Amino acid sequence: SMGREPGPPGKRPLLVLLNPRSGQGRADKLFRETAEPLLEEAGLAHRLVRTESAGHATRLLRDSPAEELLSYSGLVIVSGDGLLYEALNGLAGRPDCLQLLRRLPFGVLPAGGGNAVAASLAHANGDCLDREFAVTAAFNLAKARPRPVDLALVEAASGASYLACLSVNYGLLAQVDLESERYRFLGGARFALAFGIRLAAPGGLRVYRARLSYLPAEVAEAKDAETADVSNDNGDDNNRKPLASLKRHLPASLSDPLPSNAGWVTEEADYLLVLASLHSHLATDNFYAPPCRPDDGRIYVTWVAAGVSKVDLLRMFLSVGDGGHFRAPAFRCAAARAFRLEPLDDGGPVCIDGETAPCEAMQVELLPRLGLALTP
Ligand code: ADP
Ligand code: MG
Repeated sequence: SMGREPGPPGKRPLLVLLNPRSGQGRADKLFRETAEPLLEEAGLAHRLVRTESAGHATRLLRDSPAEELLSYSGLVIVSGDGLLYEALNGLAGRPDCLQLLRRLPFGVLPAGGGNAVAASLAHANGDCLDREFAVTAAFNLAKARPRPVDLALVEAASGASYLACLSVNYGLLAQVDLESERYRFLGGARFALAFGIRLAAPGGLRVYRARLSYLPAEVAEAKDAETADVSNDNGDDNNRKPLASLKRHLPASLSDPLPSNAGWVTEEADYLLVLASLHSHLATDNFYAPPCRPDDGRIYVTWVAAGVSKVDLLRMFLSVGDGGHFRAPAFRCAAARAFRLEPLDDGGPVCIDGETAPCEAMQVELLPRLGLALTP
């Protein structure tokens, strides 16, 4: 049971989760020198937890009593996107997940190698993503309010499910993400280097045969508008429903066929990459899905099919900083509400929110405004 009601947000401390190993290992310094004084000045108390290993944040958020978690006004991640993903998936494993998602907003202080979520929230806020970006983020956190953000439920053929806040990534860019781990000391440049090394490797690029199906966002939005009365799902009665009960467009399981005549589009091809993003940025210097907003109810499903030359691919991704790749003919994109990805070859790199995941068929539905982010 819930116990007593938590105090007003201003009186409750923030729970700060800091990954000392994120990025170039400067999270401690960033927090102590930049964020802590600003939080203090804003009169915001906090409790700092430094993670001891991968999995620590997941266990903490999965196993702490709700009463304890709700004694905080919010969760602040001082790391990259991986620690936020870990924390959200700790919540996703609880029967009271919906209640906690609706009452425990999260903020991010960018200390990781990618910082996609922090960059995308800052971009939506109109902030400049320059070298002082982390300082701006700390400053913003001190005056932040909870605002709704989209999350996505990922269901895999094995029965595993994940709560994603950033991306589902298959093929070339997933491989680059995984290979870039070893260049962690380089900071943000590690992705560019790993991409360059992958393209420079002799021989052709690996292609991934897969079936990709998606439900265009406009189709889902038109359907939602027809049935608007059932979309108001915010009552406290629903706080103990499983996440999967929020699905409105995907079949119950991956073994069920997609509904026919419901506007789904299916393509089978040899893909170099398939990447679905909930956010505009995959890193401060990677403006991957320029039109995407944190709460637009859309997941940007993008892909590049085999047949494009390495030179064209390199040219495409050299312009990712300002979103120029988005206009390249070989770069395809569909703003979707849900999609299904069925790999038809064995194996292949898969990342969810930048963290490695097993290669298997997956179906993904965007859950509009399910989370709360602390932004100004
Ligand atoms: P980065 O952007 O630098 O990759 P992330 O937040 O994505 O930062 O974290 C990278 C990985 O570190 C994640 O897989 C996370 O689970 C893991 N992790 C979290 N805390 C620790 C720790 N104390 N030691 C080692 N790894 C950790
Ligand atoms: Mg990471």
